[in-house]
Amino acid sequence: MPATSYDIIVVGSGSAGLAAAISAAEHGACTLIIEKNAMLGGTTAWSVGSITTSASPHQRAIDIYDTPDDHYADMALFHGERLKGRDNLKLRRLLVDHTPATFDWLLSLGLVFYGPMPEPPHSQPRMHNILPNSQMLIHHLTKRARKLGVEIRTSAPMEKLVVETNRVTGIVVTGEHLTAEKAVILAAGDFSANPALKQRYMPPEVARIGPFNEDSTGDWYAPVTELGGRVLNGDVALGPEIRFRPPTKSTLVRKLPPWLWLARVVRWSIDNMPPRLLRPFVMGFLTTALMPSLDLYRYGALLINRNGERFSDETDAPSDHMPAQPDGEAFVVMDGELASTFRAWPNFISTAPGIAYAYLDDYRRNRPDIFFKADTLAGLANKTGMDAAKLEKSVADYNSKDAKGDRHPCATPPFIALGPVCSFIMTTDGGLAVNEHLQVLGDNDFPIAGLYAAGSTGQGGLLLEGHGHHLGWGFTSGRLAGRHAASAGNNDSDLFDY
Ligand SMILES: Cc1cc2nc3c(=O)[nH]c(=O)nc-3n(C[C@H](O)[C@H](O)[C@H](O)COP(=O)(O)OP(=O)(O)OC[C@H]3O[C@@H](n4cnc5c(N)ncnc54)[C@H](O)[C@@H]3O)c2cc1C
Repeated sequence: MPATSYDIIVVGSGSAGLAAAISAAEHGACTLIIEKNAMLGGTTAWSVGSITTSASPHQRAIDIYDTPDDHYADMALFHGERLKGRDNLKLRRLLVDHTPATFDWLLSLGLVFYGPMPEPPHSQPRMHNILPNSQMLIHHLTKRARKLGVEIRTSAPMEKLVVETNRVTGIVVTGEHLTAEKAVILAAGDFSANPALKQRYMPPEVARIGPFNEDSTGDWYAPVTELGGRVLNGDVALGPEIRFRPPTKSTLVRKLPPWLWLARVVRWSIDNMPPRLLRPFVMGFLTTALMPSLDLYRYGALLINRNGERFSDETDAPSDHMPAQPDGEAFVVMDGELASTFRAWPNFISTAPGIAYAYLDDYRRNRPDIFFKADTLAGLANKTGMDAAKLEKSVADYNSKDAKGDRHPCATPPFIALGPVCSFIMTTDGGLAVNEHLQVLGDNDFPIAGLYAAGSTGQGGLLLEGHGHHLGWGFTSGRLAGRHAASAGNNDSDLFDY
């Protein structure tokens, strides 16, 4: 019979949940992870796997002197007018101060990263990408958790929190009551797949856009708000973003065994083989739903729906209009002259797992399912299934009206279409209010005894703009939550009854 009583119960098995469980077990706690899916990993398993940190061994190896203080300052440069003044500065500090140790910890598990890669406005190259893909994170963290004795139950959704004398003492999972002697750690992802919560917190044009991960249903919301918890920055999201659909066929990388030596071979090859030979291989890793760079639209790429119509200004939140298009889809269309500028840094088509940036030729070679090229617009329409006359008219209208200033006309053959693309909310950034120990805050900002949150669930008003900060927060907040929860006792001064 499986046990029904644990020190710590962790809800969710993505970056935050796995890190929290490992950390709790490393601090001596008898720990259970429950995951509502049959598979572990959540959104983390779909991520590109970039982690942005200062003070990494990778930076030191190429004489980059980088500090958490500089990272802290640079994060604000991503915010723009809309988000100015809305960050949780205490959690930003926690993130930048602790991510270097988190990154070292991931390396200590044998995981292999490539980097650091630049990402302006970061003042230093800080992005480190897992090799060969994010499945490695899930596989090796799960292995570590099992080795430490963490029990893992899948197809086990949390239904309720159990509260006794103002303290969270357990959860109910498919009707079964499980006791958590020390704490429950909520690491159950975001609420991008919860239409009611999106309508409640987000502008209507964003709320109607679908999630990337249908399982991100924010199940934690009702039980925690009943206890006085609240969501901060509920209107903020990673997205809506226009992304290519992920490949439909199982790609080479999904079939690769998660062997660490293989990751080391990939890393060695990147460092030592001529890029000309290596690139086609590494680019076989274009496996997830990648986002075409916004520079494409700024410089003149068009978004054209399946009817051949241009439906919005590509530089002004076009993702909001995507759900109204046939099949909710469109193609990114450009001419040969513009396309030729997206063949080398700094003009990339998208970030990419492993080697960080993918260019037009990478897509031509490795994603033939979404790459179309023709000498005429009518030929392009034929290949993509658009209406040729409408496409020609849409492009002619654009060339006569909008192709001014920095935007390039769409006039020089060959013509290229990439897609289809559609709009996704990748993750919502509204998370439960937490303190620096990741305790969930209830009425009057007193911690709810016995309850912690990490990752997207415990994002606490922290802004994670740019690449690599969400996973940085997921792993870092998970580790800290696990440690604090495991170290807390009933008489621990960190715990207040509310
Ligand atoms: C395509 C894509 C690429 C991305 N790439 C990057 C990247 O390269 N770098 C980066 O920093 N960020 C990236 N992100 C964002 C990042 O992946 C997420 O922010 C991060 O993975 C969230 O981790 P988490 O542990 O909080 O949640 P998740 O990884 O979503 O884990 C939550 C888990 O909780 C489970 N769960 C939910 N409800 C319950 C319940 N009631 N009971 C039990 N279990 C439950 C879910 O099934 C899930 O397994 C990307 C996102 C997407 C969509």
